Amino acid sequence: MIPVRGVEGARVAVLGLGRSGLATVEALAAGGAEVVVWDDGAPAREAAEARGLRVLDLTRERSWEGVALLVTSPGIPHLYPRPHPAIAAAWEAGVPVDNDVGLFFRSFATEEWEGFATRPRVVAVTGSNGKSTTSALIHHIVAESGRPAQLGGNIGRGVLSLEPARDGEVAVLELSSYQTDLARALTPDIAVFTNLSPDHLDRHGGMGGYFAAKRRLFAEGGPDRAVIGVDEDEGRHLAGQLAEGPGDDRVIRVSVARRLEGAAWAVTARRGFLSEWRHGRQVASVDLRGIGGLPGEHNHQNACCAWAVARCLGLGPRAIEAGLRSYPGLPHRSQRIAEAGGVVFVNDSKATNVDSAARALRAFDRIRWICGGLEKEGGLGALVPHLGSVAKAYVIGREAAAFARQLPGVETEICTTMARAVERAVAEAQPGETVLLAPAAASFDQYDNFEQRGEDFAAAVRRCLAARGEGG
Ligand code: ADP
Repeated sequence: MIPVRGVEGARVAVLGLGRSGLATVEALAAGGAEVVVWDDGAPAREAAEARGLRVLDLTRERSWEGVALLVTSPGIPHLYPRPHPAIAAAWEAGVPVDNDVGLFFRSFATEEWEGFATRPRVVAVTGSNGKSTTSALIHHIVAESGRPAQLGGNIGRGVLSLEPARDGEVAVLELSSYQTDLARALTPDIAVFTNLSPDHLDRHGGMGGYFAAKRRLFAEGGPDRAVIGVDEDEGRHLAGQLAEGPGDDRVIRVSVARRLEGAAWAVTARRGFLSEWRHGRQVASVDLRGIGGLPGEHNHQNACCAWAVARCLGLGPRAIEAGLRSYPGLPHRSQRIAEAGGVVFVNDSKATNVDSAARALRAFDRIRWICGGLEKEGGLGALVPHLGSVAKAYVIGREAAAFARQLPGVETEICTTMARAVERAVAEAQPGETVLLAPAAASFDQYDNFEQRGEDFAAAVRRCLAARGEGG
């Protein structure tokens, strides 16, 4: 755990008592703060009281007397669709609002670092898709190279649950737009922007607000190096804004669509080949096509981002390539879970938005596609150009029929449940085809979260294959 610095003796309010909220309470207490807490849910408040925490109704004006800081959780809206009443009350009282990420950045570096041979580094990864994969990949490459490394943030442990840094360590943080939007300190050594596509628009007041939230990671602290995916206008704008000029190699551009040979520093992947370019010269290349843990162009984009970060950290091409090859993948992201009778089964339950599902559809040739769920704002129109590889769609979710109507030119079957969809896809799949769960929708109409949906898919696949006498 990272004790929070600069809060000794101060009264700090914590709003939201989920996993990150409780970790924040502990880290604040370790830093000597007097902590008061609030959660809208009575069970969470009761649990807090049982742990000996002081519960105070932060939606009331008088609770704010003597409070120096409010720390809030990522799930709680601070602006859109409307501010949480406790946040509005903090504003009224003139109390600053921060989150665990802001506290992390002001607390991670310590005097002890003066004695280290190699200063620890913080790498922060944001973007609409590929954050977890890129973060886990960077962590894997660094750890495999023999350097100490930790991974946290929006993946695994909360940032304040990381351990204090060791000599030479690299801390890799995955940061969501909710987290970067609010943190009062954002000072990574290396920051990564993978890509941008519409998501969470209700929380950011639209696309402009969503981009602005991510942009803060680069604009607030000014990282030494910025690794930027430039396949969308927003990425190109950001790279242009951060660089002093064409020769500035503090900005490393990443693309899976262009060659970028003229850039001061670029890492690109086209048709499965990763290339690193510096001032017009190709300095390294790797064939990514046979790397099982990173299938498809979208994962090649992640590989390019991770490559760029690892190079900034001083790793050589061979060590990085070895790390890419041994990367085991993350559950529910392009995860190959079984193969039987020439049919491959892929769990991409994390494809909760249209862009990530479109990428998954581009990564395989003939697809039995399991899709549907709670549709996100913006409709499915952006999927239409990528439906050519779909042999048939098996649609799940409470609104399966409405979902299917938005998939023109594709054979669809309304299955509603996962069990039915898998059963039908297994019955109809031909050798050489892929049965792919890439829902293009959130899971909350039928599941608690995308992990549960992916596990349900995997269990249904196992059941169907066992019934047919085929193993995984
Ligand atoms: P995030 O943490 O940003 O949600 P993940 O690595 O968990 O990213 O991947 C989320 C979904 O997006 C998965 O379906 C995954 O297959 C897909 N995906 C991964 N990398 C990318 C990328 N670079 N571009 C688009 N989609 C991606």
